[in-house]
Amino acid sequence: MTDNPGRKSMKMTPQRMAIMKYLDGNTCHPSAADIYGALREQFPTMSLATVYNTLEALKEQGAVIELSIDRGKKRFDPNPKPHHHLMCIKCKAIVDVFVEFPLTLPDAQTQGFEILGNHVDFYGLCRSCSDEQRRSIQTNQ
Ligand SMILES: [Zn+2]
Ligand SMILES: [Zn+2]
Repeated sequence: MTDNPGRKSMKMTPQRMAIMKYLDGNTCHPSAADIYGALREQFPTMSLATVYNTLEALKEQGAVIELSIDRGKKRFDPNPKPHHHLMCIKCKAIVDVFVEFPLTLPDAQTQGFEILGNHVDFYGLCRSCSDEQRRSIQTNQ
């Protein structure tokens, strides 16, 4: 038997199933630590390494996407549908943006690449963070 570098099948354990269930339909774009924190109580023997390994395996299967929008930590998205993201720079909440942007690269800029897609990251302040900022400005006066 030779090593198959393609799809690795993932051994299903109750912990891995719980991680997949937690991610299913989750739109919060959790980090590995978020997932670990949410499931630790239910699975006291689960380690952060298990969460990382499971995420890595899911990523290889294309079941989750790793986001780089939050420079502080990797965030994960179980929604495989192409979409963009908007992140609050204060509380790091990430929301989905389902708008297609007609972005094109001029031929002179593609450097021979066939362009397959793009990902646009937006940054801003969410409503509760901007309300909070407004209130703190008022009380400081
Ligand atoms: Zn916020
Ligand atoms: Zn998303």
